[in-house]
Amino acid sequence: MFSNLSLILTGGCNFSCSYCYQEKDDLFLDPTGVERAIEFFFPRFENECSILFYGGEPLLAKDTIKSTVHAVKAENRRQRKNIQYSISTNGSLLDDDTLRLFDKNRFTVLLSFDGRAQEKGRKKGSFPVVSGALERLLDRPRIELLTNSVFTPETVADLSASIRDIVERGVRDAQISFTNHRPWGRDALARLGSELSDLRRFLLAFRRKKGYIPVTNFRASTELGIFGCRAGEDRMALSPDGRLWGCHLFYDFHKKMKSPTTARYCFGDLDFFITHDRRIYPRILARYADLRMDYFHTPEKFCGLCRDVHDCVICPVDAAFASGIIGRIMPVDCGIRKIVRKEKQRLWKDLENYGIHPGRARTDASKRRLRVQDG
Ligand code: SF4
Ligand code: SF4
Repeated sequence: MFSNLSLILTGGCNFSCSYCYQEKDDLFLDPTGVERAIEFFFPRFENECSILFYGGEPLLAKDTIKSTVHAVKAENRRQRKNIQYSISTNGSLLDDDTLRLFDKNRFTVLLSFDGRAQEKGRKKGSFPVVSGALERLLDRPRIELLTNSVFTPETVADLSASIRDIVERGVRDAQISFTNHRPWGRDALARLGSELSDLRRFLLAFRRKKGYIPVTNFRASTELGIFGCRAGEDRMALSPDGRLWGCHLFYDFHKKMKSPTTARYCFGDLDFFITHDRRIYPRILARYADLRMDYFHTPEKFCGLCRDVHDCVICPVDAAFASGIIGRIMPVDCGIRKIVRKEKQRLWKDLENYGIHPGRARTDASKRRLRVQDG
């Protein structure tokens, strides 16, 4: 049974962010293929399931989003499942019609917005447009809004002020990401430490006043155990060329590498899979086994030998965009995680001094997003 289906609506995007790992193209997912996928997967969905619209920029294919929602509703008349829609977007193409669709169907929107660093890494002139989209999304309480802000060695000095701005505007789930495509020198890492330290002090006061932590990177881990990638196991992704993958990131990585090693993660053409799934699915799924944090490694050691392995979450494919090998983690990724973890631990130590303990901080939206995106 599956709890997530990602539809990679297009390989195209109207932005060309400096740190984007994707190889762009002009392919669009065929809406009739989406309908066949919905028809096939619907009986195999858990009672609670997410459908994620992904790209490129998925709002370039608004009509397919509408027709998909329509197809899901038609299937659901008989099967009565709890279907949650999500979209990952740069927000620049959000119009009233789309907002109404999101509102009516209670979408979760993951908005890419870098705050004060927006125009240094993303499209020039995009700040007012995306900032306006943020405002309009916040005006619609039925839409769950999350932001993702990416920082680079060149923009790290904007981190704390940008995230504070976003949080003060009312975003309850703000996520910070870091590019691993460029070298982070000693100065940039030191600046990252001081920016996160500044943000930690802000979050300490914020948590005491408002009762929640709005930055997902600073929330205490409430789930014990070692992180494992769930690609293929409880989720599938349909790529614009009509093929199935265990997760949309495997498709992105294959587009970049174009190698037999990455092609082996493909479940094949949708129509062929529909008729031969019992034979294909277990054979390909076996190739996704062992994508666990303790089996990953940096150039120096296996993560299984690291004392922080229980509190470290790194997507093996995201790491591979920098290292070239799934599960191989570059020192920059490991080093950044250590800096973030140190500040998170300091925040929780400070909170415990005020009698505030982990376990009550995660909002419903972030729980839902974890289900949508991560292993
Ligand atoms: S901190 Fe580094 S070595 Fe330790 S588990 Fe994370 S990536 Fe692996
Ligand atoms: S860990 Fe990465 S590859 Fe695995 S399911 Fe999550 S996002 Fe996809």
